[in-house]
Amino acid sequence: MGSGFGVKCKACSASWEGSLGIGLRYSEERMKVTLTEPKSRGSMRLFSDDSEIQGEIASLMNQNASLLDYEHSAYLCAGCHWIESKFYISIKTLAAEEIYTPKYKCSKCRNALIRIKMEQNENDVQILDEKGNEIPWKCPLCNGTKLVKDNLSAQNDILWD
Ligand SMILES: [Zn+2]
Ligand SMILES: [Zn+2]
Repeated sequence: MGSGFGVKCKACSASWEGSLGIGLRYSEERMKVTLTEPKSRGSMRLFSDDSEIQGEIASLMNQNASLLDYEHSAYLCAGCHWIESKFYISIKTLAAEEIYTPKYKCSKCRNALIRIKMEQNENDVQILDEKGNEIPWKCPLCNGTKLVKDNLSAQNDILWD
């Protein structure tokens, strides 16, 4: 069952939302079709605005790489702190025995996006990196430093399949 996030800057109310997790349609079989032949019928639109990454993944999958993990995830721009939702995937490449994950770029400033987790606290929403360390957040629009749950976002409390 998938979920979502909806957050906003407490100072200026700029808001961000997106999907998290995976749903029932994301069977491993369907994922393999989607990743190996992204243009085929029955493949899902997971990388619509990232055709370069879609191509990288397809070429790895065509070399019998194995699929380790995948889900919709939240990302933070290391440069301007814009928040985005992207499709996370990790693949073990057969040849080099390396783990591949897509390197997404911020749609605003083209800096690298890093995968994050958001944690709802009493007063605000904390941003954590993949190791669980807190990342101080700064609003790209007003320099505010407090991120809070956006109660107007339909992505909060959503459960999709
Ligand atoms: Zn702001
Ligand atoms: Zn950015």
